[in-house]
Amino acid sequence: MAWARRAERPCRLQTGAGTIRTVTLPKTGGVGSSSVVVLGGGISGLAAAHRLATLGTGQVLVVESSLRLGGKISAVELAGHFLDAGPDSFITRNPAGTRLCAELGLAGELVAPAPLGALLWVRGRLRPLPKDLALGVPRQMSSLAASGAVSPLGLARAALEGILPIKIRQGDLSVGELVRQRFGDEVFEAVVDPLLSGIYAGNADRLSAESVVPHLVEALRRGRHLMSLDAPKTSGPAFLTLRGGLTQLVDALAGTLPPGSIQLGVAAVGLSRAEAGYRVALSSGEEVETDAVVLATPPSVTASILKSLSTPADQLLSGIESVPVATVFLMYSPGRVTLPSATGFLVPRRDARLMVGCTFLSQKWPHLDGDGRTVIRCAVGRDGYSSWQGLDDGQLVRAVRTELQEATGIGEDPEAVAVHRHCDGMPQYRVGHKERVEAIEASLVALPGLALAGAAYHGVGLPACIASGRRAADLAAGVLRTVAA
Ligand SMILES: Cc1cc2nc3c(=O)[nH]c(=O)nc-3n(C[C@H](O)[C@H](O)[C@H](O)COP(=O)(O)OP(=O)(O)OC[C@H]3O[C@@H](n4cnc5c(N)ncnc54)[C@H](O)[C@@H]3O)c2cc1C
Repeated sequence: MAWARRAERPCRLQTGAGTIRTVTLPKTGGVGSSSVVVLGGGISGLAAAHRLATLGTGQVLVVESSLRLGGKISAVELAGHFLDAGPDSFITRNPAGTRLCAELGLAGELVAPAPLGALLWVRGRLRPLPKDLALGVPRQMSSLAASGAVSPLGLARAALEGILPIKIRQGDLSVGELVRQRFGDEVFEAVVDPLLSGIYAGNADRLSAESVVPHLVEALRRGRHLMSLDAPKTSGPAFLTLRGGLTQLVDALAGTLPPGSIQLGVAAVGLSRAEAGYRVALSSGEEVETDAVVLATPPSVTASILKSLSTPADQLLSGIESVPVATVFLMYSPGRVTLPSATGFLVPRRDARLMVGCTFLSQKWPHLDGDGRTVIRCAVGRDGYSSWQGLDDGQLVRAVRTELQEATGIGEDPEAVAVHRHCDGMPQYRVGHKERVEAIEASLVALPGLALAGAAYHGVGLPACIASGRRAADLAAGVLRTVAA
């Protein structure tokens, strides 16, 4: 039975072998003749470390401030079962996630969600997300009309997209500006903004169109109406997860690293130039000398680590804000509640609800439906809404349950509840993000051997993070080769 299998897995202190491996760091002298220190043991840092270990160009040390690996990839215990508390799947369009799973021997563990659609909580009730969305925007008026997501007036306004003259100004603009201009406010507020809030915990009136929907910007710049765009060609499921939860990926990655390459419970607090390479200052008071450093920490932490290097990167990094988010889990005994036939629903920002979205976990993932229990996961937290952070866990659960009852009619008492808060949250790709990231990367050219990885730069999804880790590793490995030559 799926639940029982998961309950055997530890929620905390996950490393490759399920135990904490620590290393004694030399005070000076480095971790090897050529070495890379990876700061942050989230998916980006682990992907970087795994790549470096595979390349075999030098010794690798991962420094992680918390007592477990995985960062946002985490599990929550609910009545003896362990469930993904952060990401619960990854997109397949970017192949980096599936490729890494295959490389780690996890291809047989990949599972697809049930082929059920998602819903929108709009115009007073749950309604189907329009079919035929092309990269988030409608393609066919008939499916937009059939969903009932927008009023007849909103529908008429959206239909104008196909004939409105195409004007798009130079430079970046917000997704809101772009979509409101083309389809009107209603389509933006009822369909596009909830979809993007679900991914970025963002406010699409502040999110960068160039970074978040570059394909829409490009299409308009080429003079194409958005309604004429083809839906992306896909084969197979759009999302996948691992049967044992995404911590399985974390365990497998850590398991590929040589013994002694992970230091848990120690934070990087500063970075300075050493004679050859860098000196990483740790919260333990120790210092590590190394040839190269991959910074895979959240942007505000990376900014403070870089402070003493006098690079403009730290100021630029400080401008990437992160929005705290939380997941609230409700578990019901078998047969207690009936869910709508869907994977879950999204909630528009304009309604000022606490919930951003809700996943019917046990229904979305057939492999979790082992013992007939119903499990619902509600996402809380988006750019501009912080009042929920003042609520304690009990208050948060009550508030979420009130909204859930309003949306679905489910008012039964859950058998178990759990709350998981991701305090450093989701990095926001605000207007000008691409330019900012380019400037950060350009400023680091003067510091050979320093490379950035993580969700704050070229995509928040797991495949994008994995790709960023690999890129950073390749950059660091290039420096190691130069050192060795
Ligand atoms: C609730 C939620 C749901 C999500 N759902 C999905 C999804 O379904 N699919 C998807 O693809 N993506 C999803 N995402 C996004 C994705 O999970 C993240 O973007 C990704 O996991 C970030 O990985 P990272 O390694 O860049 O950062 P993190 O996971 O934040 O890792 C950074 C690491 O650095 C450590 N650290 C911090 N300070 C220091 C220091 N001073 N020294 C050393 N270490 C330090 C932290 O402890 C942490 O382990 C979700 C995110 C959240 C929060």
